[in-house]
Amino acid sequence: NESGRSLAYFEKILKLEPIVGADVIEIATVLGWRVIVKKGLYKVGDPVVYCEIDSILPPWQYFIDDKMDSRGFKIKTIKLRGEISQGYCIPIKELINHPHKKIKPIYNQEKLDEIIHLLDEESNEKISIEMGRNLTDFIGIKKITEYIQIPRNVNGSNRKAYTFPSFIKKTDQTRIQSVPHYFNVHEELEWEVTEKLEGSSITVFKKGDKTGICSRNFQIEDIEGSDISQAVIEDLDLINRLLTTDLNIALQGEILGPKIQGNIYQLRKNYYKIFDIFLIDSQRYATHDERVEILNTLKLKPSDHMAPIISKNFSLKGKTLSDILEMANGFSMLKESKPKVQREGLVFKSTSTIGSANQSVISFKAISNQYLLKKK
Ligand code: ATP
Ligand code: MN
Ligand code: MN
Repeated sequence: NESGRSLAYFEKILKLEPIVGADVIEIATVLGWRVIVKKGLYKVGDPVVYCEIDSILPPWQYFIDDKMDSRGFKIKTIKLRGEISQGYCIPIKELINHPHKKIKPIYNQEKLDEIIHLLDEESNEKISIEMGRNLTDFIGIKKITEYIQIPRNVNGSNRKAYTFPSFIKKTDQTRIQSVPHYFNVHEELEWEVTEKLEGSSITVFKKGDKTGICSRNFQIEDIEGSDISQAVIEDLDLINRLLTTDLNIALQGEILGPKIQGNIYQLRKNYYKIFDIFLIDSQRYATHDERVEILNTLKLKPSDHMAPIISKNFSLKGKTLSDILEMANGFSMLKESKPKVQREGLVFKSTSTIGSANQSVISFKAISNQYLLKKK
């Protein structure tokens, strides 16, 4: 999968709850996700492959049955009998029936627990899959947007695309439902809470005398002078501003405007809102304070050029997953937005670095379920 995002992993059923009035389905909890499953298919503690929303499952008839079509099966947020369901669970035995690989279980299925042992019959190699392991590529899952964008760069496209620079991290955020342990292990951290803007991701970098502009997955080059992102970056004179400093950094932000992602904010102009700065020499993200300082050096006023900030010192102490999801619902704080636009969600970033040898800023997103249900 191109984005590198982990969309499917080996996990366990933590909880099973009935749905009032439903005979054939029930709600399973996997990590912090709640997902509808066939009643009786699982017991608490059973291992499963959990697939996140935004996945496109390959068309494996036997587990998708009636919902299958030749283009694969898209997993979205749905509401059934008043319950939100996010994701899809595949029983381990279906994994063993992988249609493109001849694999068989080595050990008794009753003993499945922290590790699954499979034998690849073609190469005669043992495959050991431990709890938490990313199975996105193993199953052949694609991400929804990637699927739509391919093929790109066909006739009529106005950009050339090159591979994304290896020295910059691609913009990506993990959903809070996938890292529920953060509530326990990161109680002491403080978080910067920013609004998650719905546009398209653009990275502008300078490293030595090298500069460039990148979309979510590619370094791009405008070949017709008609690329919106490139025009916005030029208007802000970002490349020249970077070249006046000796910083090796990548500005990462969201391009918003009339022609982008449905323009949910009903903007009449294009804007570039910076949400992160990647420090290339230390290979980590800048903290809030460092980001503000760098923007000042570049003579960019943070209040005009940064994604809206909801809090600078939020704590997860005493909070639950549902508190955070509730907090994600709300109106956009983008000052240029039309009033009362439902926001996409929030992104939380630690205000200090963690780790000793390799310091990093950690982050996660909370997407508004109200927003997800309205979007179709
Ligand atoms: P797509 O739009 O392709 O489905 P996404 O927005 O859902 O992608 P995620 O991985 O879910 O992608 O979230 C990360 C993306 O969120 C980043 O690529 C970035 O473009 C965007 N984003 C918007 N606002 C922020 C913010 N305040 N902080 C960090 N990322 C943000
Ligand atoms: Mn997404
Ligand atoms: Mn997005």
